[in-house]
Amino acid sequence: MSGNPVLPKIRLAVRLAALLLLAGSGGCAAAAGPPVAVSWIGGQSMIFGEDEFTLLFSADGPVSARKLAAEYDDRQARLTLTVDGVELASPLPGRVEPGSRLVSRLWLAVDDGRLVITLSTVGLAAAEWLRLDDDGRRWAAIVRRLPEDGGYSRQGVSKAVKGQRIVVDPGHGGSDCGAIGPDGIREADVNLAVGLKVVELLRDAGGDVRLTRTADVDVCRPGASDSEELAARVAVANNWPAAVFVSVHCDAVDRAGANGQGTFYYPKQTDDLILANSLCDSLDDLLGLSNRGGREAGFYVLRHTAMPAALVEMAFISNPGEEKLLAGQDGQFRFALAIARGIADYFDLKVRQAAAAGGDGKDG
Ligand SMILES: [Zn+2]
Repeated sequence: MSGNPVLPKIRLAVRLAALLLLAGSGGCAAAAGPPVAVSWIGGQSMIFGEDEFTLLFSADGPVSARKLAAEYDDRQARLTLTVDGVELASPLPGRVEPGSRLVSRLWLAVDDGRLVITLSTVGLAAAEWLRLDDDGRRWAAIVRRLPEDGGYSRQGVSKAVKGQRIVVDPGHGGSDCGAIGPDGIREADVNLAVGLKVVELLRDAGGDVRLTRTADVDVCRPGASDSEELAARVAVANNWPAAVFVSVHCDAVDRAGANGQGTFYYPKQTDDLILANSLCDSLDDLLGLSNRGGREAGFYVLRHTAMPAALVEMAFISNPGEEKLLAGQDGQFRFALAIARGIADYFDLKVRQAAAAGGDGKDG
């Protein structure tokens, strides 16, 4: 594999001990076993609910605290943990499903004698390394959620959204249930559940948000034509008027294997594309589904809204795996957070563009 690092080599057992929520079973089920057991075990540990996440590793020799680092990038809500001077005896799994409300994605890599653990966090976070034994063979990285700061809400939604008028449109509803998944999950229900959470998250960050519907109803009237129904949704945004319009849908095709997210826009102005890309990036970061990117489409709600608009196809409800993700509470929360963050990031970008155009005069 790689050449000899200069630093003393330590074969490292990275094991994210599955502590499994300590339910009733007091004590620590952590990293037992001989240190030479260097294979990746997988899984994760999440010991104190949604505000904390713990990674554990053990090595067959002491690791100095100087070799450990943790750095948080709050713009990207991304935490990077590094361990220097190590070598792994078995391949890493790459991406790991953390199953945590705080850590949405986790990647592992070894690069030139350095183990790099990258985590996407839901909300602001910080991490610290904690030595678990006397000689430094066992370490934990404790990742903790931070209280919100001036720039971001507790869930990492940019406060650039403060005071902005946003219309969220949960697709279908009432006499039109949208697509139906192989397990019977109805698109209209998923769109509404996610839409309601998006609104909650945006309002937490100070956004002024309206929904086109808040229940399983037609927005126009039962039995209205498709164009009447869509016109009623557009009118909610145009009459207010809103600053952005985002329609929430699930994709569906005849092929069960089709998968991934996609966001559509109609290029009324450049901001339509910027909004769509912001949503795509955020969905990619929090869900990691195959990303079909921002694409142009002539959907009614995109063409007839007077403001930048995007239509999010969160995932394929016709795909059994993605249907489960769309139907579950955790999946719905992640889709909602991704959409809320994508919308807020759009406003954040606009604020920074305006500052750059105005020459903010600061030099550092
Ligand atoms: Zn739809």
